[in-house]
Amino acid sequence: MLTVAEAKEIILSAARTRPPCDKPLSEALHGVLAQDVTSPIDLPLWDNSAVDGYAVRAADLTGAGENNLIHLRVTAEVPAGRSANVKLEPQTCMRIFTGAPIPEGADAVVMQEDTRPHHEGYIAVIESVDPGENIRRAGDDVTKGEVVLRAGILLGPPQLGMAAATGLAQLAVYPRPRVGVLVTGAEIVEPGRSLHPGQIYDSNSFALSAFVNEAGCETVELGIADDTREDLHEKIDYGLSECDVVITVGGVSVGEYDLVKDVLTELGCEQKLWKIAMRPGKPFVFGTRGDKLVFGLPGNPVSAMVTFLLLVRPALLKMRGLTGIELPSVSAEVTEDFVNSGDRPHYMRASLHQDGDRWRVRPMPRQGSHVISSIANANSLVEVPEATTIPRGQIVKAIRLSGNE
Ligand code: AMP
Ligand code: MG
Repeated sequence: MLTVAEAKEIILSAARTRPPCDKPLSEALHGVLAQDVTSPIDLPLWDNSAVDGYAVRAADLTGAGENNLIHLRVTAEVPAGRSANVKLEPQTCMRIFTGAPIPEGADAVVMQEDTRPHHEGYIAVIESVDPGENIRRAGDDVTKGEVVLRAGILLGPPQLGMAAATGLAQLAVYPRPRVGVLVTGAEIVEPGRSLHPGQIYDSNSFALSAFVNEAGCETVELGIADDTREDLHEKIDYGLSECDVVITVGGVSVGEYDLVKDVLTELGCEQKLWKIAMRPGKPFVFGTRGDKLVFGLPGNPVSAMVTFLLLVRPALLKMRGLTGIELPSVSAEVTEDFVNSGDRPHYMRASLHQDGDRWRVRPMPRQGSHVISSIANANSLVEVPEATTIPRGQIVKAIRLSGNE
């Protein structure tokens, strides 16, 4: 049986980005940038005022103070969006507003707060200024040709703002993978309906679709397949034609109704691995058809979620173009023993909390792979090697259950 690390390596080597496409900025949030972005212009584009005030020649205000008011004639007004079409003459000033271009001849701006209105058409200045004061210089933020966004970054609001400031209307991003989720099992019923004897509600498609969305991918609901070759064949075939990745849940174990593996072979998928030394989640299939990936997850809800987080999520993030593909984790002190008497590493659900500046973690009391309430009340996983007890007081790595924490 493969270890989790071996399985992950096989999976990641098959997970690749799709060719990038140009997206308008309004659709590029959470996309991953495929190319460096260089600015076609200087930012600011020209010298401009950092304040509302008066554009001046600093030399005209030498020695200005409360007891030495210097009077300047106001010759023009320069609001943002316009520029002065005359030169500033000595002993004069121009009214100027934040962001407006500095008129020719001016070398500083006096803040409005350091002036008083004087008689008609004049101001009195009560503070001197240094040359350059309150001027934002052209190219001070970004110079033309400079790389402002690096390939591989995740585009968040500030990065979109940066691109827009340079005048770019679209960015080359990797397409978000389309991920089909198919649950399988004759007993599975959509929530909201009534149950007949032997039936249970489908929890996996909701949890997994939400995880897929959280991983920044698009979910395609493929529905619920019966445990028959025909139904599985039809639904997986459809998924492979529509999606970059297909995730099936259930039917990958060794029972007579566990037909997913056979159907994948029928559909021309190459099986890359089956069975991983881990708990929960030993039965797990991974295959490829061309550049499409297929994951067959075990049906028990906890197994499905844990295998998704440890083995599928990193592949989806890699396909999005990201390099940081691991779930966040913290070092935490164990407050109750973690006991694994089994022969496979156990990813135990755990409760992690911060106590002052320390993190503390304890196992959830029930670890059965059907105990969905214990993953719903947990917020982390702790890997406990086979036949091992991690005692109180030890420091362990607690893996968060969500990439958003
Ligand atoms: P399987 O892997 O198909 O043998 O399923 C293992 C266990 O998980 C069985 O008890 C199933 O009833 C349960 N199960 C499978 N699929 C789902 C699902 N979508 N929602 C809830 N439980 C499921
Ligand atoms: Mg089943």
